[in-house]
Amino acid sequence: MSRKFQNRRTFAIISHPDAGKTTITEKLLLFGNLIQVAGTVKGKKSDRHATSDWMQMEKERGISVTSSVMQFPYKDAMVNLLDTPGHEDFSEDTYRTLTAVDSALMVIDGAKGVEDRTIKLMDVCRLRDTPIISFVNKMDRDIRDPIELLDEIESVLKIAGAPINWPIGMGHDFKGVYNLYTDTIHVFKPGQGHTIPEDIQVAGIDSEEATELLGYYVDDIREEIELVRGATHQFDLELFLAGQLTPVFFGTALSNFGVREMLDHFVQWAPAPQPRLAVDREVTPGEEQFSGFVFKIQANMDPKHRDRIAFMRVCSGRYQQGMKMHHVRIGKDIRIADAVGFKAGDRVAVEEAVAGDIIGLHNHGTIQIGDTFTGGEDLKFTGIPHFAPELFRRIRLKDPLKTKQLQKGLQQLSEEGSTQVFFPLNNNDIVVGAVGQLQFDVVAYRLKDEYGVEAVYEPVNVYTARWIESDDNKKIEELKRKVPDGVAVDGGGHLTYLASTRVNLALTEERYQELQFRATREL
Ligand code: GDP
Repeated sequence: MSRKFQNRRTFAIISHPDAGKTTITEKLLLFGNLIQVAGTVKGKKSDRHATSDWMQMEKERGISVTSSVMQFPYKDAMVNLLDTPGHEDFSEDTYRTLTAVDSALMVIDGAKGVEDRTIKLMDVCRLRDTPIISFVNKMDRDIRDPIELLDEIESVLKIAGAPINWPIGMGHDFKGVYNLYTDTIHVFKPGQGHTIPEDIQVAGIDSEEATELLGYYVDDIREEIELVRGATHQFDLELFLAGQLTPVFFGTALSNFGVREMLDHFVQWAPAPQPRLAVDREVTPGEEQFSGFVFKIQANMDPKHRDRIAFMRVCSGRYQQGMKMHHVRIGKDIRIADAVGFKAGDRVAVEEAVAGDIIGLHNHGTIQIGDTFTGGEDLKFTGIPHFAPELFRRIRLKDPLKTKQLQKGLQQLSEEGSTQVFFPLNNNDIVVGAVGQLQFDVVAYRLKDEYGVEAVYEPVNVYTARWIESDDNKKIEELKRKVPDGVAVDGGGHLTYLASTRVNLALTEERYQELQFRATREL
């Protein structure tokens, strides 16, 4: 049994927009040697854009619509960082990416504290008890009282916070951080953010050097640290791995300070690839047999290729170039000669991948989000969610002769998870659903750009969608008969109820108690 996977650390960053995810990602790439100078990879407003920008629109809006994968070695570990879109309208994508990681880094803006998106993303992590490392960012600004921030993490996010280091001052008076476990001060020097900064250390808070460094404030700081030691949680690896305690680091991503300390601990503490649940059994990463699941499909990452890449997380065994995989849903074996890896942020041919790694498969329309691939076994990984959309539009073609292209386009976009499509049973409407407005814009843009379809997106009287599940066929038939306007099938052929209002949904649920109306569907 290969143990190679054990050095894999596969994670994603969760944060509220503007907390510093992009900035910290860059600094991680510096330490991973993927870039030499920060400020060039994803400068949002700069022209030097990341290779992942497949759409002009993304540039115009200055948002990252798509996620990508970055693999780099650090110390003894091989780190796989899965980027997630920052914009809330693409949160579904983020949720699914979180099913493919073993841990997460939570970035919190020290001046703002715990914000909405972080709360939501934390809820998603909790579904699988994903271990969380926290980084309180922007210490070079006047932030909120660190004790208060810790309290907020505990009370709002319902996870114990164990500070690993403690900030000394903040804003203009930011002196550095004190590591509570090694009794070392890491001294802050501003203006070193573009490269890997020197790590200036002072040993011992009670030392002469510390007295000199901290000057007038030294007594207050020593007192505060005593207090912090007494009043906060101790780090506990088991609780961390169980998702019940988060180690907290303070720093500033912009100045690249505190990031290295966090990363050093991250590779040490974060879990190696974890077992994954399939319908019939648990799959462990050390198993000989290859297995993996697709959590994301991305189109046209590189305009030169104009293809679609299915991102697969390897869950067990080993991918080797040219191997045969069993595509469980369609029951076929396929030879994969040209999977791509994501070293150095570039797409490169990958020769080998083990559990925890992400590989990209060229998708010519046969792969959907949620698909499982194995060495032959009929396995189906669970837990990749699909969320009921919150916004709906009816699509009307400008040119009725383009119906075929429209259907093809929508089919593909819904397989990618870029939108959801519903076909009401009693008319010829096509209704698209999205979690956020920007998703519609992307759909409109891509239908036109890739499929040559121009359409009008009209308001439609749908409040929400629910997937209908039941063995009671009689009741289902009754619903179809009595509420013909409300029943549709989605792009995957699943029966769906389109409720016109909240009240309508409640009444229908009450009347058809034999049926289950689900707001999420596992793929
Ligand atoms: P994202 O939306 O989470 O990806 O956030 P960004 O990384 O784009 O950061 C948002 C803004 O905060 C940008 O203007 C950054 O330059 C700034 N920023 C990020 N980290 C820090 C920091 O440590 N200190 C200060 N002062 N600003 C920061």
